[in-house]
Amino acid sequence: MSTLSSVAPAGFDVEKIREDFPVLKQKVHGMPLVYLDSAATAQKPFAVIDAIRRFHEVDCANIHRGVHELSQRSTAAYEETRSKAKRFLNSRTKNELIFVRGTTEGINLVSSSWGRKNVKAGDEIIISAMEHHSNIVPWQMLCEEKEAKLRVIPMNDRGELILEEYEKLLGPRTRMVAVAHVSNALGTINPVRQIIEMAHRAGALTLIDGAQAAPHMRVDVQALDADFYTMSGHKVFGPTGIGILYGKTKLLNAMPPYQGGGDMIRTVTFEKTTYNDLPYKFEAGTPNIAGGIGLGAALDYMTQIGIDRISAYEHELLLYGTEALSEIPGLKLIGTAREKAAVLSFVIEGIHPHDIGTVLDRQGIAVRTGHHCAQPVMDWFHVPATTRASLALYNTTAEIDALVDGLKKVKEMFS
Ligand code: PMP
Repeated sequence: MSTLSSVAPAGFDVEKIREDFPVLKQKVHGMPLVYLDSAATAQKPFAVIDAIRRFHEVDCANIHRGVHELSQRSTAAYEETRSKAKRFLNSRTKNELIFVRGTTEGINLVSSSWGRKNVKAGDEIIISAMEHHSNIVPWQMLCEEKEAKLRVIPMNDRGELILEEYEKLLGPRTRMVAVAHVSNALGTINPVRQIIEMAHRAGALTLIDGAQAAPHMRVDVQALDADFYTMSGHKVFGPTGIGILYGKTKLLNAMPPYQGGGDMIRTVTFEKTTYNDLPYKFEAGTPNIAGGIGLGAALDYMTQIGIDRISAYEHELLLYGTEALSEIPGLKLIGTAREKAAVLSFVIEGIHPHDIGTVLDRQGIAVRTGHHCAQPVMDWFHVPATTRASLALYNTTAEIDALVDGLKKVKEMFS
């Protein structure tokens, strides 16, 4: 087995990175915490915690509407995150980046606003077999309302989408193709550039669910040519309750508002309201200001470490983890795509994932067990649930060794 120093790319000092995350220093049930649940939510570095605290201690005021100093400062700090997000996602302008609560709200915004206006009876929406519920249910609701049809790209035994089948699903009635960039349940990295190109050739738009991609790889919405791309702040080491929806300006301008309220208007009379420009047209009410500022600090944090370095390190961790888990008799990985992010989802013959998770927890090891909000994926693999270890930039090979030791104990207990 390789050692920690041999898996880290040049300039990547994981022990130093771990110092940035106070939560990782604790013991759980008397054992050092081994946090392997970053796909559910990532831990927060001091840079993010401090930015949120500083906002509340020094700059706290509502944004956009005040002439006083504090309001100016909080507006500037909040809007600065939009500029950071523009660089992070490489959008053309910052006005095509809408602050939302997270990926779920980003998808709901598009399905409600764009969908209600553009989808008609008999139209078709394509999703994939590996979507998170948040990229299934909003489209299902839209299809039900409009009498449109939901079609699903199938996958193979490795958990890779079958593009030949996707090609067959595309047709003149296809209005939208909505797929995950990276699957949270399987770790599969989908060939979204190609998926988008194929959709565009058929005259359809695309929405990419970037919840699991943004923390782990470089995202360039222009290079992808995505029509919509959405991500959650809490998965990129930022706070919960804040995320970003990218949409092409032309599309966003043509869409009706999602919610009505303050900030999204230009003028209001009882007879008629006119709407604000982008991005504010889609941002009704007082937003998560502290969250937005924390997200800015998180994007800076990732950028400073270097997204490509993060990807390279996590890839080595994935290879190490895949090999290490293969030592455990009766363990089967669910999701063995050739292009994979650092997610290790597995089942062990004869032992329920819930029992695995509980025994690991007693050893301070945090994994997720269940259907991972992707029940159709579980159905496809004929398992009720999996145990999922999801890795991030602060994990180490020693922690993977701890997981393997923990699983050996589980096996002893249940055999
Ligand atoms: N899509 C994927 C692939 C996810 O992993 C998640 C979160 N688990 C979501 C969407 C939803 O993200 P959020 O709960 O942050 O809105």
